[in-house]
Amino acid sequence: MSDPSNNQKSRSFRVTGLPGDGIGPEVYESACSVLSAMEETHGLQVKLDEQLIGGAAIDATGDPLPAETIEACRNSDAALLGAVGGPQWDGNPAHRRPELGLLRIRAEFNLFCNLRPIVTHPSLHGFSPLREDRLNHVDLMIVRELTGGSYFGKKWRNDDEAEDVCRYTREEVARVTRAAGQIAQCRDKRITLVDKANVLETSRLWRAVASQVIEEEFPDVQMENMYVDAAAMHLLTRPADFDVMLTENLFGDILSDEASMLCGSLGLLPSASLNDEQFGLYEPVHGSAPDIAGQGKANPYAMLLSVAMMLRHSLGCHGEAVALEECIHECWNEGILTKDLREDGYSTTEVTAAVREKLVAHSKS
Ligand code: NAD
Repeated sequence: MSDPSNNQKSRSFRVTGLPGDGIGPEVYESACSVLSAMEETHGLQVKLDEQLIGGAAIDATGDPLPAETIEACRNSDAALLGAVGGPQWDGNPAHRRPELGLLRIRAEFNLFCNLRPIVTHPSLHGFSPLREDRLNHVDLMIVRELTGGSYFGKKWRNDDEAEDVCRYTREEVARVTRAAGQIAQCRDKRITLVDKANVLETSRLWRAVASQVIEEEFPDVQMENMYVDAAAMHLLTRPADFDVMLTENLFGDILSDEASMLCGSLGLLPSASLNDEQFGLYEPVHGSAPDIAGQGKANPYAMLLSVAMMLRHSLGCHGEAVALEECIHECWNEGILTKDLREDGYSTTEVTAAVREKLVAHSKS
């Protein structure tokens, strides 16, 4: 937690660092390096308490989310995660799988609100498979419910049948709708609620509850409804028309990966998973990329943009978040990109050094 002896403008924070597996430790290292530069350039003190999660935690302790990791998060303002998973754990039984660490941390800290900003940048338009004219002015925030629905419902399987129960309560829908309403109020005040209300009862509950919350508590916010199949299409044909997209767990998972293609690479997309108490887990949208792990090829920008989200949403350091984002955008303008985006690309550590240099240069100008 922030040091209580400091005043409201405390600039000293404690963050649990969770490098994880595959390229997780490589992009996590990049985040540590940039945060240490921000201590010099902005006087920001972030004490990182490094802990185990995922496959690395299974190997060391047998548990994908050890008790020490949970305890460290409890004593922190935020947690910063690289990625979890890899083929070496694919054959493990369900209770010893790396992704369970992630699902359990979301449940343990009630991280019900997942934010995935999708913002295109003109210097990266050429890397998207979409036509350039569709990419101008895309600035969309996907708000995905993260602790309910079929990912957490009752599950069973036998040789011939299987079931994943998708269940939502009024309260679960209302609280994430409130979060989306608050976000919309700071943006263009428009929400698209994505569901499948022509078929699913859970979607009909979502429509009833979300429209009531928005009408009663956010009268300045407009909400439209859209079926998920149509949303998948409109994300590609007119992505710039969306402001905030609110949706349930499974639809949000799929649509946000689809939307990532607007930006050019999975390696560019950050995310935040928040609870009601400002605690958040910040992580890149991508996975552990075992195919490129250990080769210095990992794109660290998704992780660095996740650091910016952490500064903004959990640490209240808005100016520092903007400063970091500006340095990243300058690097993009100068073509400082990893190999997922250009064949002669820079290494993870070269990109990190470039972002650090920009921070230092800005602080002196
Ligand atoms: P992935 O995101 O790891 O990789 C997909 C493709 O994108 C790969 O070709 C990879 O090389 C590339 N890629 C991803 N991130 C990159 C980056 N930062 N820089 C450059 N290229 C990048 O998805 P996957 O291959 O489906 O999954 C690999 C493992 O990651 C699996 O074990 C999966 O369960 C896990 N996973 C973890 C998370 C998480 O920790 N939040 C999310 C998704 C998948």
